[in-house]
Amino acid sequence: MIQNIRGTKDLFFEEILKWHFVEEQFRKVSNLFGYNELRTPIFEKTEVFQRSIGETTDIVNKEMYTFLDKGGESITLRPEMTAALVRCVVQHNLYNLFQNLRLWYFGPFFRYERPQKGRSRQFHQYGAECIGSPYPESDAEIIFLAISIINSLNINNFSLEINSIGNLNSREKYKLELINYFKDNINYLSEESKNRLNINPLRILDSKDENDRKIIENCPNILDYLDDESKEHFDILINILDRSNIKYSLQPKLVRGLDYYSHTVFEFRSNRLGSQDAFGGGGRYNNLIEELGGKPTPAVGFALGVERLILIMDNSNHFVDLKNKIDFYIVYSKYEYFDKISLISNKLRKYGYSVIFDIQRKSFKSQLKEADKLNSKFVIIIGEEEYLNNQLSLKNLSNGVQKTIPIDSIEAINLYL
Ligand code: AMP
Repeated sequence: MIQNIRGTKDLFFEEILKWHFVEEQFRKVSNLFGYNELRTPIFEKTEVFQRSIGETTDIVNKEMYTFLDKGGESITLRPEMTAALVRCVVQHNLYNLFQNLRLWYFGPFFRYERPQKGRSRQFHQYGAECIGSPYPESDAEIIFLAISIINSLNINNFSLEINSIGNLNSREKYKLELINYFKDNINYLSEESKNRLNINPLRILDSKDENDRKIIENCPNILDYLDDESKEHFDILINILDRSNIKYSLQPKLVRGLDYYSHTVFEFRSNRLGSQDAFGGGGRYNNLIEELGGKPTPAVGFALGVERLILIMDNSNHFVDLKNKIDFYIVYSKYEYFDKISLISNKLRKYGYSVIFDIQRKSFKSQLKEADKLNSKFVIIIGEEEYLNNQLSLKNLSNGVQKTIPIDSIEAINLYL
C-alpha cells in the first residue's frame, strides 16, 4: 500500500467541514476589512525566497523543498507567502493601482521540518498584507484584522506578544551590543548559537536550548536601542492598541525567524496548543519590496497557521455535531423509475436542495437505511402507487411526519417542509 508523505495529511468527511467553516470566515472577515484575495503559484524560482527570507535562516538553510526542474531551473515549493506575494506585486506593478494595497491569501505551504503535533511538512496559512503605508495605523489595521479573524473562529484563549526590532540603524546598534554580550558568555552558548553569533546574532534570541535561554534572559533589551523614529512608530502603535482595548504583552526578546522584518513584530500564542504554541505571527517589512526589485514601499502583514487554528478549536470543543447532511434522499421501489427520479432530483437541485438517490439497485429497505446513514433531512418515497399517481411521499426524518404531494407541485416543495 502506498502511503502519503510524512508530515502531510489527507482531509475528508467531517474534517473537511471544519476547513469549510474557517475558510468561510477568512473570506467574510477579509471582505469586511476591504482586503482582496490574491492567489499565486505554489512554487517559485528559488531566489524569491533565498533573497528575501534570508540565507542564514532555518527556513532557507534547512527547510525548503528545492529541486531542479527538467529545464535545470531551481524551483522551491513556497515555505511562506510574503516573498511570493511581493514578487507578484512588483511583477504586476500592483501598487500603481491603489494607494494602499490590501491583500489576503489562503493556501498550502511547505517546510521540511520534523513533524509533530501542530507541525507538518505541508501546512496551510491564512494571511494578509497591507502595502503602502509607513504609519503605525497600518500596523494597527493588520493586528485588528488578525484579531477579528481569530474572534470569528470563537477563539478566546490566546495572547498577543509584540515587540519592535526598529529600523536598520537601531538594529545594527543593537546587534553590536548583543555580540559583545554573547561574546562575554560564549562558553555557555550552544554550538548553534556560537555559529550564529557572527552571522546573525538576533537569531540566537530564538534559540530553544536551555542554557542559551538562561544567557538570553539577561541580554540587552532591544527597546533600549531604538532610535527616535523607531521609538515613535512603536509608541504610537502601542497607544492605539491601548485605546482600542487590545490586550498584548511586550516581548523584547521576540525577533521572529525571518530577515526581512523591521519595526513591529508580533506573535499569537495559545495555551490550547502543545509545545508549538504560536499559531500566527507577522510584522512590518519596509525594505523587502525594494530588495525584490520594486519601488521602495513600506508594508506590514501577518500569517495564521490554519492547522493550529483548527487544533485550538478542536481542543476547545468548538466543533460539535459537524456532519455532512443532505436535504433529500429519494427512495424508489423499481430501478425502471430512474428517469423520473432523475427528473425530480434535477428540479430539486435547481431550487437549491441537495439530493441523493440510489444507483446501486439496492432494496427499498437498504435505501431507507442509507438515507439515515447519510443524514438526510427528508426522504422522498416513490413506490408503485406514487409512481402511477404521479405523486411523491415526503417524510421528515427528524419527526417522522409524512405527506403526499403531487409531483407537479414540486416547485412549491418548500411549503411542505
Ligand atoms: P511563521 O511565519 O514561520 O511564524 O509561521 C506562521 C504560522 O504558520 C505559525 O505560527 C504556525 O501556526 C504556522 N506554521 C509555520 N510552520 C508550520 C509547520 N511546519 N506546520 C504547521 N504550521 C506551521
